[in-house]
Amino acid sequence: LKDSLEHSADRMGFEDAEFILIRYTDVPGRFLAKYIASDSGEYLRSGVAVDGSSVRGFAKIDESDLLLVPDKSTLRPAPISNYKVATVIADVHEGFGRGRLIRDPRHVSQLIEEHLAREGLSCQIGPEVECFVFDDIVFGGKSGPEILSAERAGKYHIRRKGGYDAPPFQDSLVELRFEVAEILKKNYLIKVTNLNHEVASSGQIEINFMHSTLTKAADNVQVYKDTVRNVAKKHGKIANFMPKPVFDESDPSSSESDNGSGMHVSTSLWDGASNIFYDASDGYAELSQTGRYFIGGILDHARSLAALVAPTVNSYHRMVPGFEAPIYAAWSRGNRSAVARVPVNDRNNVKSKRIEFRAPDPSANPYLAFSAIVAAGLDGMRKKIEPGDPVNEDIYKMPDHVRSSLGIRSLPGSLQESLEALKSDHDYLKPCFQGDLLETYVALKQEEIAYAGRSKERQFMLYYDV
Ligand code: GLU
Ligand code: MG
Ligand code: MG
Repeated sequence: LKDSLEHSADRMGFEDAEFILIRYTDVPGRFLAKYIASDSGEYLRSGVAVDGSSVRGFAKIDESDLLLVPDKSTLRPAPISNYKVATVIADVHEGFGRGRLIRDPRHVSQLIEEHLAREGLSCQIGPEVECFVFDDIVFGGKSGPEILSAERAGKYHIRRKGGYDAPPFQDSLVELRFEVAEILKKNYLIKVTNLNHEVASSGQIEINFMHSTLTKAADNVQVYKDTVRNVAKKHGKIANFMPKPVFDESDPSSSESDNGSGMHVSTSLWDGASNIFYDASDGYAELSQTGRYFIGGILDHARSLAALVAPTVNSYHRMVPGFEAPIYAAWSRGNRSAVARVPVNDRNNVKSKRIEFRAPDPSANPYLAFSAIVAAGLDGMRKKIEPGDPVNEDIYKMPDHVRSSLGIRSLPGSLQESLEALKSDHDYLKPCFQGDLLETYVALKQEEIAYAGRSKERQFMLYYDV
């Protein structure tokens, strides 16, 4: 085991770990676990077998032997255990030396990074993951998350609209956020930047961490969600990453509903040490022409992208007017009703010039979502797609005819609609979605829609727990 540990891991002094927790992600985006005893540590080099037929989207029953090959650079001491546990993220291979599994989401993100590298570029991705942390009382002793009806939320005194709330009453989660930040820093070497209470009820939080390269950023999202879930559970609470857990079922846009949880994704592209989205001479938002084309690609493919970045039935209850969630394919500087934003209030715009895409939510598989966003932007750059003029008014309030005269399209209103868009617009994904991955993905999502329809979204989300 000692030989397989990276230098940094060695330094942390857990070469005497008793157990190893190997993590990987299925096609819909769940962060799965395989445990081995550390005296089977030689597997860290050769790979650990898993039955792919029991992993959603991975393998058929007749070719189900897969191998988890740990990426040693991700080896860390696992938090929250009475035992000495090391944890590592793995790449998935097909058994019998048949190479990488093309349906492994981490493979998709590595492919888009290789594609970028061939163009002499690299990217930085900064995700902002929001979520709710509910008291157990809300669940009446039942374990597992639940969609809250507005009425129920009222009964449990969840107060709506409270951005940047402070302790002790409206924000009771500050210690929990500190604990999460501490684990991210100490165990996972992930640097947290902000850790606030979010706009919604007393239970919504947002913890931001440093941007990084694409696959690493997706790893960080998985580790982050896992940490929040486990810390919440330890405190008798339940973390919920659904896009819209508190809403009025008859009308999600009514004021009885609460804000949803987004996972805004900021992207910057780099040519060596220079940020190619920055250009001070170029006027609006100090965004370069390359940056404008990148936005052009995002807006052009926005309806198809939705299937990958807002990929659950519940996602479309978030995409309604009035809650800072985007519903129109437009871009702007500070306008939170537009789907793409170019933040300008940083001190160092040369380094931090980035494009924030606001459609994604935390039910997305981060490896697939980040890869698709970059692929869409690159397509815009290649085809020189102009994004049109930025829109600086509140688009929610714009009359329909003004919107259509400006050529502003709506994002899909349902998962079914976005899947249809994905089926007719996916060429831009070719650099990273290979083989039958896209068909597999669409088939899984169709199953989810059918399941949600049959037994109500409420139960569906219980089963899904994003
Ligand atoms: N919660 C909002 C959303 O659903 C975003 C709020 C914000 O701008 O941070 O995307
Ligand atoms: Mg936020
Ligand atoms: Mg944001």
